[in-house]
Amino acid sequence: MRKSFIVIGLGRFGLSVAKTLANLNCDILCMDISEECVRDAITEIPQCVIGDSTKLATLKEVGAGSIDHAVVAIGNNLAASILTTMNLKTLGVKKITVRADRPNYYQMYKMLGATSVIVPEEASAVSLANQIASDAILDYYSVDENYAMVKIAVGEKFEARSLVDLDLRNRFDVNIVGIIHNGQFYIPRGTDLLQANDIVVTVGTKLKIRKVDAFINQEAK
Ligand code: ATP
Repeated sequence: MRKSFIVIGLGRFGLSVAKTLANLNCDILCMDISEECVRDAITEIPQCVIGDSTKLATLKEVGAGSIDHAVVAIGNNLAASILTTMNLKTLGVKKITVRADRPNYYQMYKMLGATSVIVPEEASAVSLANQIASDAILDYYSVDENYAMVKIAVGEKFEARSLVDLDLRNRFDVNIVGIIHNGQFYIPRGTDLLQANDIVVTVGTKLKIRKVDAFINQEAK
């Protein structure tokens, strides 16, 4: 069954989340208090409504209570963001992701019922710093405080070795969940060979992934 989402607040952040979800074929409804924002978004996401999410009745009317996951993307208006989160909680929405503009709002939103809190500037700054710290790290997604999903480029001089042989799971507690070979992604088996110029998609603690990067790219020399 397709997952349903409501994205509230169609600034740059909210719109970008909404478009991505729509491209992933999710059921999506968008709401913004501004007619102009809705007019701009509706060309790309047909299910857009004008509404004030601080009003419980408005959210009820659009059926927010039966939606799987709500994203509160109102950044600047703290009062509106708080009231919206509380309303969604009151309506029994199971997953509520709130965009916070400051890290010290994290605890407050959690107490109000948010199941996850995103600080976009912080998340992209952390991701950028981690990417540029190593030439081999191509993409970095922080899963939580300790864990990350990271794409690592395998050096040019790496000699083909099987995943069983590399044994990253036991050596570092890091899993290779995917390999991109000649631009094609696939889910590997232990006997598959990792080759020069492949890109590995790894999951593990941030510290251990750094060690894997050093290990793989040292093996290449
Ligand atoms: P961004 O940083 O994502 O570009 P922004 O700074 O342009 O956002 P914000 O003030 O963070 O704008 O608000 C994001 C959106 O939330 C705006 O389009 C605004 O109209 C909408 N919004 C604000 N209050 C409400 C509300 N009560 N109900 C619904 N939408 C709201």
